[in-house]
Amino acid sequence: MLQPQRTGNPEQLSTGNRTTRGQTDNGFVIQSDPDRPDNGIGKLRRKLVRLLVVEDEAKAADFLLRGLGEHGYAVDVARDGREGLAFAQAGDHSLVLLDVMLPGLDGFQLVAALRRQGKRTPVLMLTAREQVDDRVRGLRAGADDYLVKPFAFSELLARIEALLRRAAGQAVAQTVLDVANLSLDLEQRRASRDGHRIELSAKEFKLLKLLMRRRGHVLSRAVLAEQVWGMSFDSDSNVVEVSVRRLRAKIDDPFSPKLLHNVRGMGYVLEDRSP
Ligand code: CA
Repeated sequence: MLQPQRTGNPEQLSTGNRTTRGQTDNGFVIQSDPDRPDNGIGKLRRKLVRLLVVEDEAKAADFLLRGLGEHGYAVDVARDGREGLAFAQAGDHSLVLLDVMLPGLDGFQLVAALRRQGKRTPVLMLTAREQVDDRVRGLRAGADDYLVKPFAFSELLARIEALLRRAAGQAVAQTVLDVANLSLDLEQRRASRDGHRIELSAKEFKLLKLLMRRRGHVLSRAVLAEQVWGMSFDSDSNVVEVSVRRLRAKIDDPFSPKLLHNVRGMGYVLEDRSP
């Protein structure tokens, strides 16, 4: 899995030059100056709230990096759309600031891909274009809000805070898990795929819930045996394999894209691998 490269030298990063990028090797750089004096609140926030900025223009990225850093946020920067998607998928960001016009993959495509994979990280789109079409397109693709450049930094901060508050509320209330067109309602104990209702046994429900909650993570047979059946793993038993096969026949075989994958010698992972 991709891991962000980190460095504590914002001066070096802010130049956006090739040397710096060469050193980090993936163009993914972190602002954050641990030595900068700060009040307690800023320190607390920086620990808790990590934002991802996807912006190809060095000046704009630098502006966001510095400004948000000064307000106590930890900021990762991706310089093009593909990097941005990879980091948004891999990272634990509380929010994504997404430029629309990007090389590789534009902002609309990026947010749509993220949502297809079931990632619900709030996305605030930054668009230089004022056409209503673009805003509507962004929101339809799965963005949560947009801001037209040039914007006042105070407005950006206010919108970030509003989205973070909203996300915190939803995280508590979220009772439906989604991965691509597979949906699991935890309250109604009901699964559906592409709008078709799927009947699951109690164990299958539990198994699917675990796989969906840990989407993108490989779960070993031992972990599944323990968490779904409450038993220590017995390598002679094939209860996990049999149940996974049954579950797959219900939720995956008649549908696409395929979501439940075997990882040889390791276990199982539920994720959308379609491009
Ligand atoms: Ca751009």
